[in-house]
Amino acid sequence: MVTTEVFENLKSLQEILVQKYELEGKKSDAPKQLSNQEDLLAKTQKEFIEQKSNYDATQEKVTQLKAQLEEAVKSREEGEKGVANSTTHREYEALEKQITEAKTLEEQVRKDLQHEEKDLAELNERLKNSEELIKFQESELNSSRESLNKELSSYDNKLAKLKVEEDKVTKNINMIYAGEENAELKAQEILFKFQRIIQRNSEGIVSVRNGVCSGCHMILPANFANEVREGEDINFCPYCSRILYYEEVSEDQAEDYFDIGAAGSLAGLDDEFEDEDSEYGDDEEKEERSEFDDEEEFDEESEDSEDEDEDSDDDSDEDEDEE
Ligand SMILES: [Zn+2]
Repeated sequence: MVTTEVFENLKSLQEILVQKYELEGKKSDAPKQLSNQEDLLAKTQKEFIEQKSNYDATQEKVTQLKAQLEEAVKSREEGEKGVANSTTHREYEALEKQITEAKTLEEQVRKDLQHEEKDLAELNERLKNSEELIKFQESELNSSRESLNKELSSYDNKLAKLKVEEDKVTKNINMIYAGEENAELKAQEILFKFQRIIQRNSEGIVSVRNGVCSGCHMILPANFANEVREGEDINFCPYCSRILYYEEVSEDQAEDYFDIGAAGSLAGLDDEFEDEDSEYGDDEEKEERSEFDDEEEFDEESEDSEDEDEDSDDDSDEDEDEE
């Protein structure tokens, strides 16, 4: 017999696991917060490297131009000195030509040099800016890393506390089959299934109300709903795999339920009770059944409802995914 305590333990475990999975999810997502900042820094660093190689190339050009200028100036000055001391007309003309060419070259080189030096200054400015930006982005990233680490360790603290609670509750649940053969294995299998369904749906234990699983709202086969009601073992919903426990339904809630239009199966449930009358000896059970006695008008539909149940079985996977 599965006691109320077991279901209470499963509900407690569910609360713990929901928090645990949420925290684990946050923990694994948290480092993604940094990816924007990391991308930005990487971009700036890449730009810096490109600017640096541009700068180096420009500086090389400037050095070459300065050497060219020096040569041109030297050539012009030599020509000018020579002209003063020239003795022949031919010598004079050659020197004049040298001077003219040197002047033209000098002028051109000075222009180029001015241009390249302007570029070099601009590139230098950009390099400085990039360097500043890199420093800034690095410090921003570091402070983000610090707060991320704080965040992560707060998750770890919470997870450690949850682990203590989880172990306590799990220990209780492991006792479900105490004394039976393979008791531990059976309990572990239930825990495993339970954890998996919570991971997917955040709800692993739900009530059966009026023969309907309140997790997936599917009408359960009447004999199965009855097994849940008897509570001899842990039962899983055949449609959504959640653990089921039986819940009494008041008149008001029963009316709500009939509005859904699934009354056919209830009539079937009613039949089931009629057939197995001898099993329900005590007064309490008879009282519960009286809720359904008013619904005899649905008896005609009870055969159809069996078919509906089978059809819905095929759809159960889709229903699960939608949740
Ligand atoms: Zn279900």
